[in-house]
Amino acid sequence: MSGDVVRFEASEEFARRMDAEDALRPYREEFLFPDHGGEPAIYFVGNSLGLQPRKAKAYVLEALEDWEKLGVEGHFRGAHPWMPYHEFLTEQTARLVGAHPLEVVVMNTLSVNLHLMLVSFYRPTPERPKILMEAGAFPSDQYAVASQVRFHGFDPERDILRLAPRPGEETLRPEDILETLERHGREIALVLLGNVNYLTGQAFDMAAISRAAHKQGCRVGFDLAHGAGNLQLSLHDDGPDFAVWCSYKYLNGGPGTLGGVFVHERHARDKALPRFAGWWGHDKQTRFQMGPDFDPMPGAEGWMLSNPPILQLAALRASMELFDRATMPALRRKSERLTGYLEFLLDRLPPGFVRVITPRDSKQRGAQLSLRFSKEPRRLLEKLNAAGIHCDFRSPDVIRAAPAPLYTSFHDVYRFAGVLERHARD
Ligand SMILES: *Cc1c(COP(=O)(O)O)cnc(C)c1O
Repeated sequence: MSGDVVRFEASEEFARRMDAEDALRPYREEFLFPDHGGEPAIYFVGNSLGLQPRKAKAYVLEALEDWEKLGVEGHFRGAHPWMPYHEFLTEQTARLVGAHPLEVVVMNTLSVNLHLMLVSFYRPTPERPKILMEAGAFPSDQYAVASQVRFHGFDPERDILRLAPRPGEETLRPEDILETLERHGREIALVLLGNVNYLTGQAFDMAAISRAAHKQGCRVGFDLAHGAGNLQLSLHDDGPDFAVWCSYKYLNGGPGTLGGVFVHERHARDKALPRFAGWWGHDKQTRFQMGPDFDPMPGAEGWMLSNPPILQLAALRASMELFDRATMPALRRKSERLTGYLEFLLDRLPPGFVRVITPRDSKQRGAQLSLRFSKEPRRLLEKLNAAGIHCDFRSPDVIRAAPAPLYTSFHDVYRFAGVLERHARD
């Protein structure tokens, strides 16, 4: 960590001292934790479903009460009218992902948004039909991509290039991605990578990949389901054509809540770009003239289809306010420390007991460490659950632990490592 080196110690007293010195510590109080015998559980699955912000309920109730009292007038009246409701999230979202407000919108859900982006940015031709993605991409992304390739009359077997780790390795080598682009770039219509990879926790250099892809004439997009609210992103400067993410993982927006979309400014006013249209993407000034011809709004909003679900937006607003106050650079600084502390404690466990799949280089990962256990992983998971520690298990032997910096403490990490140590020794 640049200019920020901490000498970790494997003592409870040290973990407590780190928490006492943590400027983000008060944010923990802004969240509701599942209960474990009268104590808050230790929650390492914020990469699956983030915790509920305390204010979420009040914000949802506000929308319900406006509906109760105002009926349809709630679109224009009340503290947060529904008509522009999604715009209340735009500036915060732009700051979160390092984009201009014009480049982002909160809408739909991730897989839907991925399809909308593929419609616009995957334009295969016989000379350039391919999509480059990870062999280990999240299944929904694989299904979406294969269906789009087929939809255009191409062959997923032939036209999806899958990046796989070298034999015996768990993660991709950055130079292998660039080399594949160098070698096959002219056949590739679109590069689509998950950042962070959901299973291995590997993060990619978005700027380098975007540059290399564009040099070959490819379009490039990122699935930031595990990156938004986790990595410090600079989408505008890094330059991908689009990005999509969901808001129920690190972003704590609530189950099934709306996702986010980034479309780079260079496409903001390109009305000729093919897209699927709906009335909420139509120019705001003339939308209610109800004319027959679609005139897209400039920027990411031009991809909106429907008027959005306000109750979901309300819950998400509670979390986005916290991110905006804490700021992503500060969260990322704590996150590197927190995950670094977890790694430090893991390295002190008996040799051969656990293998960290996630890259050791903090630039190549976010909060999550994916751990492969040699000794009875299912029994270990039971012990973690019995200790009130929520983790995620991927059969047969991978446990993913994601200490989210908004609400996880160093003491949580210390206690997690303690359960592992007892399991290793018993
Ligand atoms: C969580 C996740 C999804 C989930 O998609 P939804 O459409 O929100 O259900 C998709 N892709 C990746 C990479 C994910 O991690």
